[in-house]
Amino acid sequence: MDNKINWGITKDLQADIRYEPNACKNYVMDMSLGCPHHCLYCIFSPLEMKAYQLQNPDYKEETVLLKLDRFLEREDFPPCVYLSYSSDPLGNEDIIKSTITVVNRLLEHNVNILFVSKGIFTDGILEAFAKKPEYIHVQVDVTSADQYRNSIVEPYAASYEERMNNVKKLASIKGLGNLNVRIDPMLPNIDDQPENIKKVAGDALRLGATEVIAGYVLVTGTVKQAWMKNEFLRPCAEALSEVTPTISGQQLFSLPFDDKLERLTRVEQLCKEVGIKMACCGCKDVRLKQTDFEWICHPFNRQMREKMMKENPGYVLETEHLK
Ligand code: SF4
Repeated sequence: MDNKINWGITKDLQADIRYEPNACKNYVMDMSLGCPHHCLYCIFSPLEMKAYQLQNPDYKEETVLLKLDRFLEREDFPPCVYLSYSSDPLGNEDIIKSTITVVNRLLEHNVNILFVSKGIFTDGILEAFAKKPEYIHVQVDVTSADQYRNSIVEPYAASYEERMNNVKKLASIKGLGNLNVRIDPMLPNIDDQPENIKKVAGDALRLGATEVIAGYVLVTGTVKQAWMKNEFLRPCAEALSEVTPTISGQQLFSLPFDDKLERLTRVEQLCKEVGIKMACCGCKDVRLKQTDFEWICHPFNRQMREKMMKENPGYVLETEHLK
């Protein structure tokens, strides 16, 4: 597989596995160009759409279901794939159908799947997971229990109750590789209130998740400016005053590092109080890797990557950034 930087989704709108240096230096696959959830903070979905528009000026920045022909012809598979990098694998009914086809085929080839979603895990997707659950590593993305916040920030994603119900359904699959709740991206001063963290972490634990992954939002300069004009989002935008060193190297704003550390330590303590462990994402702010927080490069951490590479000669899974 080619490890060069790519321009994401190809000109002919084929979904296929690609190496993505900005996504945990991992193999990724999107079933759609664009994402029907339209989260206010989303970075990668608009970026992929812009990249596609550069090559196709008539494209109107809509969500487009990608074709699976090339993927279905593929005969070689990397040891792990992240679903999905710049979209949600459960974005809508058509996307879910494609995702079921993709999951089935990946599992036929014993590929580990990191699956992150704010959608609804349907019976079809749960049945697909149950075929080889040990290869499935899920993060159900639930940052806030506040319906008003969710209606503004994640307007088309599943509701809090639906996402927590996903956790319950997934927990009933015996032998699932990982089941975590992702409290990420948190909007500072909006989502990191103790009552919210305790509610989300407590429900996650009660319904069967084993860990939470916490992280703060990163936004582009344009998004920050827009949020400064919005009464609800301004307290968050004002706090996002530092350009953050990320794995992608893109100019993105987040909390100043000391403030971020202090807040994450508080979140970790709140998680401890409800009885669940917290990890965080080291690719969103590489300085987190120098802290005592456990960082999210598990389930594909250094040890696992070395093992997968040994078993899959010809595939490179970088480990340098995991030191
Ligand atoms: S679900 Fe993910 S990919 Fe889709 S809009 Fe939200 S953040 Fe972007």
